[in-house]
Amino acid sequence: MSILDWFNKNKLKKTDQASRLDIPGDLWMKCPSCNDTLYLKDLEQNKKVCHCNYHFRISPEERIAMHFDNGSFEEIEPQIEAIDFLKFKDTQSYEIRLKKAKEKTKHADAILIGTAKLNHLPVNIGVMDFSFMGGSMGSVVGEKITRIIENAIDNKFPLIIFTSSGGARMQEGIMSLMQMAKTSAALQKLADVHVPYISVLCDPTTGGTSASFAMLGDINIAEPGALISFAGPRVIEQTIRQKLPKGFQRSEFLLEKGMLDMVVKRQNMKDTLSSLVKTLNPHYERVAK
Ligand SMILES: [Zn+2]
Repeated sequence: MSILDWFNKNKLKKTDQASRLDIPGDLWMKCPSCNDTLYLKDLEQNKKVCHCNYHFRISPEERIAMHFDNGSFEEIEPQIEAIDFLKFKDTQSYEIRLKKAKEKTKHADAILIGTAKLNHLPVNIGVMDFSFMGGSMGSVVGEKITRIIENAIDNKFPLIIFTSSGGARMQEGIMSLMQMAKTSAALQKLADVHVPYISVLCDPTTGGTSASFAMLGDINIAEPGALISFAGPRVIEQTIRQKLPKGFQRSEFLLEKGMLDMVVKRQNMKDTLSSLVKTLNPHYERVAK
C-alpha cells in the first residue's frame, strides 16, 4: 500500500466512524481493537484496559496514579523548557508547535521525572507523555532522563522509566539525536554503581527512544500489544517489498523473539515492579530505612 492510499484509507475510516457513532464522547469510548463501545467510567475503573485486553494510551498523571502510591510523586525539574534554537519551520514553526503542545498537555515537555513510592518503596521515575508532540525526544527529554538517572546514582533508589514516544524530535536536528548517546552513557554510569533500571515500554516506543534508553533496562517490560520498533512496519514493508508476519513489532512478538523480558498487563504492573525492585536492588535494605 502506498503512503497516499494509507492517508485516503484513514480519511474514509474517520468519516465512516463519525456517521455511525452518534454518542457523547465524554461518556463512551470505542475500542479500536474489538470495536465495542465502552462506558468511560467502567473503562477508567479497569485502568483503561478493554475486556479484549486492548491497553488505551494514558496520560503521565494517570500512569503515576495507577502505578505509584497515592500522592507520593514529587516532580523534579518541571521548569526545564525547550527553545527553538534552530528557528525550525515546516508547516508551522517549532516555537508555535511547542506553545500548542504546552497548552494542550499542561506540561513543559514530553516527560515528567521525579521520585515516588512503589508499595512504600522509594523509586526514581520518568513517565513520557505521547500527547506532547508524539512523545518525541529532544534536548529537554534527553536532559530530564539524564537528570533522573543522576538522581538515581546519588540516592541509589531504583529507576523506572515508562516510555511512549515516536522517536527523535526532528525540529531539533542533530541535538535530538545526541540525546540517544547522552542517555545511554548516563545509564552506563548507573550500571557502574549497581542501581537497577527497569524500562517499561508502552505503546508506541519507536525510533530514537527504542534505539537508546528504552531498550537498555536491566529488565525490559512492555505493556500488551505495544508497538515497539526502530522503523515502523509500514516503512519496512515498503522498503523490502515483503509482507511482514502477523503481530510484527508488537510486545508479544518481541517477547517470543527474546527482545523483551516480560509483557505485563497494566493491572499487574505495580505489583510486578515492586517485586522486581526488591529482588534487584542490593542497596534497598540499607537506604530505604
Ligand atoms: Zn476492546
